[in-house]
Amino acid sequence: MALVVTKFGGTSVATPEKIRAVAERLVARKKAGDEVVAIVSAMGHVTDELTEMAYAITDTPRMRELDMLLSTGEQVTIALLAMAIHELGERAISFTGPQVGIVTDDAHAKAKIVEIEATAIREALAADNIVIVAGFQGSTRDGEITTLGRGGSDTTAAAIATGIDADVCEIYTDVDGVYTADPRVVPRAQKIDRISHEEMLEMAASGAGVLSMRSVEFARNHDAIIHCRSSFTSEPGTIVTHEETTMENAIVSSVVHDMSDAKVTLRGLEDKPGVAATIFDMLARENVNVDMVIQNISEEGLTDLSFTAPHDDLQRVKTAIDAIAQKVGARTWVLDDNIAKISLIGAGMRTHPGVTAKMFRTLADEDINIDLISTSPIRLSVVVATDDTERAVRALHTAFGLDHE
Ligand code: ASP
Ligand code: MG
Repeated sequence: MALVVTKFGGTSVATPEKIRAVAERLVARKKAGDEVVAIVSAMGHVTDELTEMAYAITDTPRMRELDMLLSTGEQVTIALLAMAIHELGERAISFTGPQVGIVTDDAHAKAKIVEIEATAIREALAADNIVIVAGFQGSTRDGEITTLGRGGSDTTAAAIATGIDADVCEIYTDVDGVYTADPRVVPRAQKIDRISHEEMLEMAASGAGVLSMRSVEFARNHDAIIHCRSSFTSEPGTIVTHEETTMENAIVSSVVHDMSDAKVTLRGLEDKPGVAATIFDMLARENVNVDMVIQNISEEGLTDLSFTAPHDDLQRVKTAIDAIAQKVGARTWVLDDNIAKISLIGAGMRTHPGVTAKMFRTLADEDINIDLISTSPIRLSVVVATDDTERAVRALHTAFGLDHE
């Protein structure tokens, strides 16, 4: 008997029929002797639709109200799934995030889980239920409803899995695992059988949509195993686990691209202590997630500074940037929306020199210009023009030996 946390994403619960299929899967699991907790997302594109409705009303919805709205998506799914399980003659009970004690900070729309009070889940399991929990939501200590950021149901799943000390956290999705590159862009991409938390974390941070970054972070911090697999087959997917147990230590294990960022450049800044601190303080206060930062060598005491941030944060960047430019005495600022970030990820990079040179050479041979560069011990990222994305990803995938035969 195992204690399993399973998560089903929006595509897996998009229609009543699909919800019934999920119910059948869960009931089979329970009949096989497992204790089952299911985390579900909003049906299909409901979160997008709710978001669109909000923006049809205002360009600047208050984040508290946006969370109030978006959290309803998941609530629909949990109730329907519980009913579907009841129809199959099995015990099930649904809970919202707040009901099972998912306590978050108060950063609406991107709240972080600070505590999980797992008693309600344990009690419901002990009463022989399949326990269904709404993903993506929680509440502050004051009882304000929050959401965890897009894709946040994965995070709920990983947090609950660690909170109740589950044997495995299975994330069911519409792809059959984690791939060496987006198969829609690279037809010769391959499914990865096992990958380390660290690599998966870098992949998620670099824009691989398959698992949310926070979910992997949670799993890594608590040494939990995630099994990312397809909800349409029973084939095993990709196991995300700690590094020593991943088998192949490929130098590069994946190529990830991300078009969700934009680049902002502040021109003609004074090159003196405190300027960068002021800029990023003010951006942080607006809750802008800055990713890459680059500052040029100064000429005559003036320099340029560029940073990238998600499109989703641009409205907040725009709100803050004039004041920032004024405060630090920047001459002007410019926004470039036409960028893509391409990342190479691999634990083997730590010990193999020459990856950088090979990456740059490969891009140069394709006549692709590199704009920004950033690195971590197991990741190398460059920013290129959007139009170059597919060529860059394919060329790198081939150059680093990832194409399947
Ligand atoms: N429904 C939310 C979203 O679409 C959360 C999730 O699916 O994980 O982002
Ligand atoms: Mg989703």
